[in-house]
Amino acid sequence: MHQKIYTFNEMEINLNGRCIFCCKSASTKDHIPSKSLLEKPYPNNLLTVSSCKKCNEAFSPDEEYLLNVLVEIFLNPILLAKKNMETFIEHVSDPLN
Ligand SMILES: [Zn+2]
Repeated sequence: MHQKIYTFNEMEINLNGRCIFCCKSASTKDHIPSKSLLEKPYPNNLLTVSSCKKCNEAFSPDEEYLLNVLVEIFLNPILLAKKNMETFIEHVSDPLN
């Protein structure tokens, strides 16, 4: 079965002013990807979707967590590998924990 893939413009038309996440009335635009993952100056052509303020703000802690994980991975790959190795060794030496 073929499923239609919508463009962002088509999604915005279908949403007709409703939040993409909860379908209640939208009052903000949520950037895709989140602006917290980008450096200033931001591109002029960032994609956005309609969202209500509650849904838009609800993702902020997750976006901040993702950003911190990405920073950890990119700035500290050796430290991260060491942590993973220590976790692996602990698990191998005590597999029931
Ligand atoms: Zn919403």
